[in-house]
Amino acid sequence: MSDRLVRIEEHRWLGDKRSFVVHDQDNVCDKAVLDDIAAAESWLTFGPDTSVEARNRGYKVCPACAAKSAD
Ligand SMILES: [Zn+2]
Repeated sequence: MSDRLVRIEEHRWLGDKRSFVVHDQDNVCDKAVLDDIAAAESWLTFGPDTSVEARNRGYKVCPACAAKSAD
């Protein structure tokens, strides 16, 4: 999982508190998105670490990440 950011590497689902979009670090749409979230320190992780939990918290799964995971 080398694409994952170091400080949040134990989590798969990474929410952006600014946009309420959650990205899938295992199928990330664009690494730059993660870098941007990290730079802004605007991430939120979920427990349990699932897309269902993210949705329950009001986050929307990133369509670009979802498209990659469907490949
Ligand atoms: Zn994404």
